[in-house]
Amino acid sequence: MKPILYIIIPCYNEESVLPITSGLFLDQIHTLISKEKIDEQSRILFIDDGSKDTTWNIIMELAKKDEHYIGIRQSRNRGHQNAVLAGLMEAKDHCDITISIDCDGQDDISAMEAMVDAYLDGCEVVYGVRSKRDTDTFFKKFTAQSFYKFLNAMGAEVVYNHADYRLLSSRVLQELADFKEVNLFLRGMVPLVGFKSTSVYYERHERMAGESHYPLRKMVSLAFDGITSLSIKPLRLIMGLGILVSFLSFLGAIWAVISQLTGHAITGWASTTCIICFIGGIQLVCLGVIGEYIGKIYMEVKARPRYIISERTKKE
Ligand code: UDP
Ligand code: MG
Repeated sequence: MKPILYIIIPCYNEESVLPITSGLFLDQIHTLISKEKIDEQSRILFIDDGSKDTTWNIIMELAKKDEHYIGIRQSRNRGHQNAVLAGLMEAKDHCDITISIDCDGQDDISAMEAMVDAYLDGCEVVYGVRSKRDTDTFFKKFTAQSFYKFLNAMGAEVVYNHADYRLLSSRVLQELADFKEVNLFLRGMVPLVGFKSTSVYYERHERMAGESHYPLRKMVSLAFDGITSLSIKPLRLIMGLGILVSFLSFLGAIWAVISQLTGHAITGWASTTCIICFIGGIQLVCLGVIGEYIGKIYMEVKARPRYIISERTKKE
């Protein structure tokens, strides 16, 4: 039996690219159907992440034109990760496989065939991995690579140069549904689900139109979320730092006592100030990191819904 594929596409203020890329996704579905790799029931599922432009109208028009297009709309903008999750959870009971991809045409749509092939060979998770970053500016390349290195150093297991272009089987989706966390970082969560996985390499292009929604500020915040929602290594590092500073202070204290006893004590204003500043700074940073985790716990305890769907193109 051929698998039913749902392509999951989050869209936020994408009126300029959607008319271009929607046709490319449909072509890909038709190609895969004609090669008998996927079922005719396969769909392209757009998730409008509370766009403020005409994105939702475009999605509704597409759905009227061709039955392969369907769409859901979030009640407000909740961010890329939540939009992808909404799409995955919406699709999980209707399909055998999903492929999530951005709507801007940056990720090579034709790599989907290799992903489906890998699934047909028995893989349940197929990561789309960028083979090179030629089209990126030096700044984007540098920040993105530091991002992966930093994440891994901090104990969050992520696939290098893999964003959110990936195939998941419905079995993986069912298991992923049991990961109830509110702080989402899908590319760190998927490896935790396990199952047989592989990677498909592709070249990433430039955005077909419109602008990136991931400025440095959002990337830093995603990196923080990634680290703090996947690992407690920063807390351990703090503890290590605390032990080190305590040890140094202990040595300092012995030195002070000896100086006092041998009569070498001087009015050391500068050294005292330096030590106070140093310890004060470290304590504040450590408190900040602990606060970040407490904030996360606070959000998790409230267990608010991770997405709210306000409209659907297809009435069930
Ligand atoms: N996106 C979203 N909600 C947001 C921001 C972005 O659904 O709040 C979608 C966006 O429409 C696109 C994908 O997430 O399909 C990736 O965004 P973008 O291309 O701006 O990021 P970049 O590729 O520059 O990292
Ligand atoms: Mg993009």
